Amino acid sequence: MDTVLKIDQEVSLASYTTFGIGGIAEYFAIASSEEVLTLLTEYAREHDLRVSVLGGGSNLLVSDSGVKGLVIKNEIKDITHKVENEKVLVTAGAGEEWDAFVLRTVEEGWWGLENLSAIPGTVGATPIQNVGAYGVEVGNLIEEVKVYSLREQKFIAMTKDDCRFGYRDSIFKSEAGKDLIVLSVTYSLSTTPNPQIHYKDLAEYFSNHSGTPSQLEIRDAVVEIRSKKFPDWKKFGTAGSFFKNPVISTAHFNELAKQYEGLPGYPIGDGTVKVSLGWILDKVCELRGARTGQVGTYENQSLVLINYGGATASDISNFAETVKDKVFEKTKILIEMEPTRW
Ligand SMILES: Cc1cc2nc3c(=O)[nH]c(=O)nc-3n(C[C@H](O)[C@H](O)[C@H](O)COP(=O)(O)OP(=O)(O)OC[C@H]3O[C@@H](n4cnc5c(N)ncnc54)[C@H](O)[C@@H]3O)c2cc1C
Repeated sequence: MDTVLKIDQEVSLASYTTFGIGGIAEYFAIASSEEVLTLLTEYAREHDLRVSVLGGGSNLLVSDSGVKGLVIKNEIKDITHKVENEKVLVTAGAGEEWDAFVLRTVEEGWWGLENLSAIPGTVGATPIQNVGAYGVEVGNLIEEVKVYSLREQKFIAMTKDDCRFGYRDSIFKSEAGKDLIVLSVTYSLSTTPNPQIHYKDLAEYFSNHSGTPSQLEIRDAVVEIRSKKFPDWKKFGTAGSFFKNPVISTAHFNELAKQYEGLPGYPIGDGTVKVSLGWILDKVCELRGARTGQVGTYENQSLVLINYGGATASDISNFAETVKDKVFEKTKILIEMEPTRW
């Protein structure tokens, strides 16, 4: 039997984003299988429609004027695994909910993803910005990403190296990878315990813990720490950290560290230093909890912007510009936003 495609017109995207913001998608469809997804891309090609792929909408700022073309919400699901000695290769469909997937790996005793607990969104988006938290980046655990190339109209299996992972970055964010739709991701996990608790907050949390914490204890710790640092995205409009921590030259960092005593910086090689933007926003710019109208920085974490209700994408952008200007004025650092803008 032929597959019947359901494509809606004029769909508001606000309820599909955790910011609760966004205009109308000209066309909107849900892909629950690879077959439906490829048929939708064929439809888009025939009708000359640009394709945009949506996961959980937790890293997106959709413009008030909406999105032209076809928005495909990826809901491809399935989880399979293969054990090779102590290695477990777990493949998850791009539309699987990320945190439910992480919980499953913890319950199975497959080590690797526990530090990335409680991050909203889908599996398919994790390679896009190389999702990271508490000392772990997903790119280091990725074995393969299966994609559909809109340009070449074919399926491609990409290795970790092909993905060119960087800090909150990958090939998928560049011109070379913008036409790639993630269908599934294979993570290389381990049955051997490998607790990663060196990151400051986790190290403090476990400082009085006797013995090695279990995977579930690490997950619970991350969930608890995050609940104090991030607003509940089911209650407040937010996309999590709105700005990336900037990476600057060592010379620039040394100059700033003289001016602002205690400025945290982490050398990341190539003569560059990743600087804590949260610290700059708090101590240098005094923007913690700042608010204009219905937009503000979160009182517990200045990197996080909040839509307190009824804010538009322009309100968020304008507020972000004032933050950007203030940081530049004080530090000569040009900060970049983390969420994708549509
Ligand atoms: C409260 C909160 C806390 C957060 N904490 C963190 C954190 O600690 N670390 C972190 O890294 N991020 C964090 N985020 C950001 C966000 O949750 C992640 O980036 C997440 O992976 C985005 O997933 P998503 O499915 O919602 O993607 P979406 O927002 O739907 O999409 C984001 C981008 O990915 C693209 N995309 C999505 N799915 C696919 C696909 N299948 N194929 C191709 N492109 C695709 C979209 O086109 C878009 O460009 C946080 C967000 C919130 C709201």
